[in-house]
Amino acid sequence: MIGITILGSTGSIGVNTLDVISRHDDRYRVVALSANSDVDKMSAQCREFRPDYAVMADALAAEALESRLREAGLETEVLAGDEGLVKVAALPEADCVMAAIVGAAGLLPALAAARAGKRILLANKEALVVAGRIFMEAVRQNNAVLLPVDSEHNAVFQCLPAAYQGDMDRAGVRRILLTASGGPFRNVEPVELDAVTPGQACAHPNWVMGRKISVDSATMMNKGLEVIEACWLFNAEPSRIQVVIHPQSVIHSLVEYVDGSVLAQLGSPDMRTPIANALAWPERIDAGVNQLDLFEVARLDFQAPDFERFPCLRLAYEALERGGTASAILNAANEVAVDAFLHGRLKFTAIAAVVEQTLSSLPSAAVVSLDQVLDADREAREFAGRLID
Ligand code: NAD
Ligand code: MG
Repeated sequence: MIGITILGSTGSIGVNTLDVISRHDDRYRVVALSANSDVDKMSAQCREFRPDYAVMADALAAEALESRLREAGLETEVLAGDEGLVKVAALPEADCVMAAIVGAAGLLPALAAARAGKRILLANKEALVVAGRIFMEAVRQNNAVLLPVDSEHNAVFQCLPAAYQGDMDRAGVRRILLTASGGPFRNVEPVELDAVTPGQACAHPNWVMGRKISVDSATMMNKGLEVIEACWLFNAEPSRIQVVIHPQSVIHSLVEYVDGSVLAQLGSPDMRTPIANALAWPERIDAGVNQLDLFEVARLDFQAPDFERFPCLRLAYEALERGGTASAILNAANEVAVDAFLHGRLKFTAIAAVVEQTLSSLPSAAVVSLDQVLDADREAREFAGRLID
């Protein structure tokens, strides 16, 4: 049996992961689950999957969960806070860690999994955006195995040679083509974007996701974060990553080779495919996903991205170019701005403005330590917070 820890089990990726695992209970055993504060969902998951540990990041939620589980007669040990998250990410009985916490909050536990040499299924792209150098070093130094769950990166991973070691030239790869749906506002007039509500921003045409990533998809900051994620995962120069708008979300990304071949991975837009791919790699398991019906899809469209309509995408490339802590600053400002938008304290179009002003006002530096990255993250959060208040 393969022991698995799921960080962020109550979220969209976490629930999809448990769905795939429940189809293969002869193969996987849930060692630990974790969530922020949703006690109802966590206690239901504990009843179904009987993990050894359950962690609530929120201390009061941990207390509430503890009494729920004791009432139900479960022996699951309840832990709290960052300490609990870091512990379950590094348990000896966990062979595999699904990193599916949203935002920079997922960095420390994902890093703990890397340092413990785990097989890491990485959905939490922000961990790489904030601390890519440190994270990738920890993976290498501890012989961890890093498998991308983000659908585009999982597609690229599937289209690269099996022995790919981070050298695009040696592998004969010319470019990576990251597809993007363009989100719900691909064709909305920019002047109309001022009045967009959180409900409209979270209504993605093709994917059902958590609220933060849904807003990121609407601003296309998500694609910007994914370009940064791809640079770290595949050791790619930003200039060799091309974003391609593809509204149908059927091609999940492509790899172009020097001989002119372009390999693509296609499938129904369902995160259980990349989750199952990463879980079972190098094998394949049933994911419960609908077969792709090409006759129903009928056509595939492509467009170049529009940096004026989607300034967040441009800002992500600018942060990449500046390098060092700039992408941590970009990410922190974005998290603060998106949260303010979701709580009705900021206009949709002001998200990019807050990120731009934070990024241009704060100095960035070459990354030398985790503490320095965490400081940059904190300063950017404070700065962006002051801009909004
Ligand atoms: P979500 O909001 O649905 O779930 C987030 C999970 O993280 C929940 O379990 C929540 O309890 C937990 N969490 C939130 N804040 C926390 C904190 N401070 N400490 C500890 N736990 C915390 O998000 P999601 O859509 O599942 O996305 C998770 C990650 O996967 C994100 O980084 C996202 O970019 C990435 N991702 C998601 C999708 C998707 O289809 N949902 C696709 C690709 C990548
Ligand atoms: Mg993605």
